[in-house]
Amino acid sequence: MAERSQTAPEAGYDMGNDDAIGGNVSKYLVLPSGYCGQPKKGHLIFDACFESGNLGRVDQVSEFEYDLFIRPDTCNPRFRVWFNFTVENVKESQRVIFNIVNFSKTKSLYRDGMAPMVKSTSRPKWQRLPPKNVYYYRCPDHRKNYVMSFAFCFDREEDIYQFAYCYPYTYTRFQHYLDGLQKRNMDYFFREQLGQSVQQRQLDLLTITSPEDKSDLENSVMQKKIKIPKLSLNHIEEDGEVKDYGEEDLQLRHIKRPEGRKPSEVAHKSIEAVVARLEKQNGLSLGHGTCPEEVFVEASPGTEDMDSLEDAVVPRALYEELLRNYQQQQEEMRHLQQELERTRRQLVQQAKKLKEYGALVSEMKELRDLNRRLQDVLLLRLGSDNLREGAEKKVVFITGRVHPGETPSSFVCQGIIDFLISQHPIAHVLREHLVFKIAPMLNPDGVYLGNYRCSLMGFDLNRHWLDPSPWAHPTLHGVKQLIIQMYNDPKTSLEFYIDIHAHSTMMNGFMYGNIFEDEERFQRQAIFPKLLCQNAEDFSYSSTSFNRDAVKAGTGRRFLGGLLDHTSYCYTLEVSFYSYIIGGTTAAVPYTEEAYMKLGRNVARTFLDYYRLNPLVEKVAIPVPRLRKEKPPPYKYPFLRGPASNHPNGKGDKKSSVNHTDPSNSF
Ligand SMILES: [Zn+2]
Repeated sequence: MAERSQTAPEAGYDMGNDDAIGGNVSKYLVLPSGYCGQPKKGHLIFDACFESGNLGRVDQVSEFEYDLFIRPDTCNPRFRVWFNFTVENVKESQRVIFNIVNFSKTKSLYRDGMAPMVKSTSRPKWQRLPPKNVYYYRCPDHRKNYVMSFAFCFDREEDIYQFAYCYPYTYTRFQHYLDGLQKRNMDYFFREQLGQSVQQRQLDLLTITSPEDKSDLENSVMQKKIKIPKLSLNHIEEDGEVKDYGEEDLQLRHIKRPEGRKPSEVAHKSIEAVVARLEKQNGLSLGHGTCPEEVFVEASPGTEDMDSLEDAVVPRALYEELLRNYQQQQEEMRHLQQELERTRRQLVQQAKKLKEYGALVSEMKELRDLNRRLQDVLLLRLGSDNLREGAEKKVVFITGRVHPGETPSSFVCQGIIDFLISQHPIAHVLREHLVFKIAPMLNPDGVYLGNYRCSLMGFDLNRHWLDPSPWAHPTLHGVKQLIIQMYNDPKTSLEFYIDIHAHSTMMNGFMYGNIFEDEERFQRQAIFPKLLCQNAEDFSYSSTSFNRDAVKAGTGRRFLGGLLDHTSYCYTLEVSFYSYIIGGTTAAVPYTEEAYMKLGRNVARTFLDYYRLNPLVEKVAIPVPRLRKEKPPPYKYPFLRGPASNHPNGKGDKKSSVNHTDPSNSF
């Protein structure tokens, strides 16, 4: 981590002389040439002295333009791809052009629309720059090297901006992730330290598998709800819920009469008022609160006052008219009340039915849940017959980040782990049948240092599988020892080895496999990628290829493919640094962190398809003794509805499975 002076070093003018780059820039302030005053806003400060940081040198070439040099991998100047640095002390609306001038590769996804990642302190989520602001071209100023230039406009003076080749995933983040998992005390998750890197960082090994005692597992699957819900429609009335409705109904009536006065009372009062007025006019006195009917009854048969009544012809007719009206209104009120009562009863009935329906729905949900759990247990038992023959343990071995700059590898790996430790029924079944051994970060020093491909000592660890040294390649040595130990253990069957990488020139996820003389083995090897293609829209079977190039001799996939017996499959899983293309479209969908993790989840669930635990019907209908002994007819399986149907180039074809050439030598 060489400190730098405030002006570019003399050696820096020798463009492309990467020997001049000793370490990462550290809070490196760039002042315009000839400027002697105090630094001002807009005099950019570059920094890469942080975990996974990488920027070796900055040359300001004009007021707006800066040449940026990737710091080569430690002890190996051949590899210059990963960059990750911050810029601060910016001015609002300051426009810049950054040229990354010393890539060690020529082919790049930048030609296909890839753009660098950016985030800032106030916007901490990584985003890709708009591709229109990114140029990738051969530059005469830099020994005809390929240069990636991007334009950027800083918008917030207080922000620190960070730029990176791809989503960073640091060693510390990984440790925090594992610490979090450990705290959950899952009895099917075990973390151990398999070894240490040269710089004493942990080589973590995870084991994910169910505890031996299967009855425990079944109980755990069933424990949530063992009781079978009753399917009764009448039980609601038995427990006095009808009363509840009654109470609700009372409330309802209150609400419907906000004035708090009965309608009949209103009518009553107005009639009384009229009568009183008329009486007053006629000199009659009738007490308030006396019913008009009583008045009439008392008044009509009376004889003494007949005359006076006869004298009052008009009032009497009015009385009768009024009484008729009153009786009519009373009748209407009674009718209305009856109507209301009927409606109320209907409402109560409907509410009751609704409640019954609700109870039914929740019963159905409970039953469905129970059914699912029963199915899981059934799967476990049936699957055990299929898989746990004898005491042999089937092991799936997964490794990642042997190449430290290939950060998508970590997201995919985390997706696999997250799925395997989840409560998803498929995860339950997988844990029950298989032992997953995962070493997610094979090169922790390289990751920490911000290297692209090598370890601290400059080794591409994926070329040293043949003879790893315990002191120069300790993590690789540790993993290889463990794999050989398992290989020699008669109680263990190492079924899969998958090493996860990221690819800098290809789209999609895809795999590399091995070539075998044995045609049957060769065909069997194609099954897993075909199945994965069915499960993951971003995985391409037709980009998958099988090879035995000399240059790949020291890779894990090639070495273990040669070592392990014919029932084991070894793959390199590659995923694009940039994007994937979904079948039937041509548009590239840039990968997000989540999309990488989703690919991991799909890889995990594909093991279920592979071991064919999933389609119980198929298991019953087609008597297949063991997958590994049979001639593999992948297109015959019901779950293989045509090969690679989701690939952008149309159907996956058999041709690709015999594509013996490698499209790139990048892993
Ligand atoms: Zn790689």
